[in-house]
Amino acid sequence: MTTPIPKQKYNLDKLQKRLRRDVGKAIADFGMIEEGDRIMVCLSGGKDSYTMLEILLNLQHSAPVNFELIAVNLDQKQPGFPAHILPAYLEQLGVEYKIVTEDTYAIVKEKIPEGKTTCSLCSRLRRGILYRTATELGCTKIALGHHRDDILQTLFLNMFYGGKLKGMPPKLMSDDGKHIVIRPLAYCREKDIERFAIERKYPIIPCNLCGSQPNLQRQVIGEMLNDWDKKYPGRIETMFTAMQNVVPSHLNDASLFDFKGIQHGSEVVNGGDIAFDREEIPMQPMGWQPQDDENVAAIERLDVFEIK
Ligand code: SF4
Repeated sequence: MTTPIPKQKYNLDKLQKRLRRDVGKAIADFGMIEEGDRIMVCLSGGKDSYTMLEILLNLQHSAPVNFELIAVNLDQKQPGFPAHILPAYLEQLGVEYKIVTEDTYAIVKEKIPEGKTTCSLCSRLRRGILYRTATELGCTKIALGHHRDDILQTLFLNMFYGGKLKGMPPKLMSDDGKHIVIRPLAYCREKDIERFAIERKYPIIPCNLCGSQPNLQRQVIGEMLNDWDKKYPGRIETMFTAMQNVVPSHLNDASLFDFKGIQHGSEVVNGGDIAFDREEIPMQPMGWQPQDDENVAAIERLDVFEIK
């Protein structure tokens, strides 16, 4: 007779499996990790970075390449920052780590007038310190905990306020041209991370210790996307799939596609134009898959790459 598995454990296993699969696929699709990499995992104490560290540690045992992980937290000396939490957690995990202490809070307070938003200077200072730390620690990659929903929010922020069709890359060269930044959670849904973090009971450090207002525009876009997700299941997945199916010949950027080169006798590109036809909109959004727990078996049957 088999021993019944407690429901909570079963759900946690399924969540972990799904997150592992998503992270493994992103790593493979974008060539994020190579043999011999030493990866600096940026740990803020929020749900995303805890999850990223755990899943990467997990994959480290089964990955086809060898890589090292070092967790790094930046203590920015914000009032009330519980400095003991992360060292205690990381000690117990047995992972190599470094806590960098820099009083960026004082700098920001000194430079930015009261009532003005402090995030842009604060982020710039943080970025510089993290790049410097990566060099000091001999790291080849810097891993950040942004997930699929952050990427979509950024896409809409750039469209609504920046006039650009631009998201957040899963892998990029840092702005100082010296570091490769990766986002292993790029395919992970925020709600999976949220549930996983709750189940794992991570010692979350609140992100509003500095007293700064959250980015209201990002918040509004986040709410818009959550609303769509409730009203139109599958829309988020479809939009994310769209970011992976870009058709430059059917956009309007002349630097991406040679529109001037189209002449009589040119080939039909990407299906031509259906502007004069009645468009067929698929009833089931593209890229949609059932994602709730009841349907998890269907997802697990999907043929996707996972680091073994
Ligand atoms: S919320 Fe506070 S800690 Fe975070 S970037 Fe803004 S100023 Fe910095």
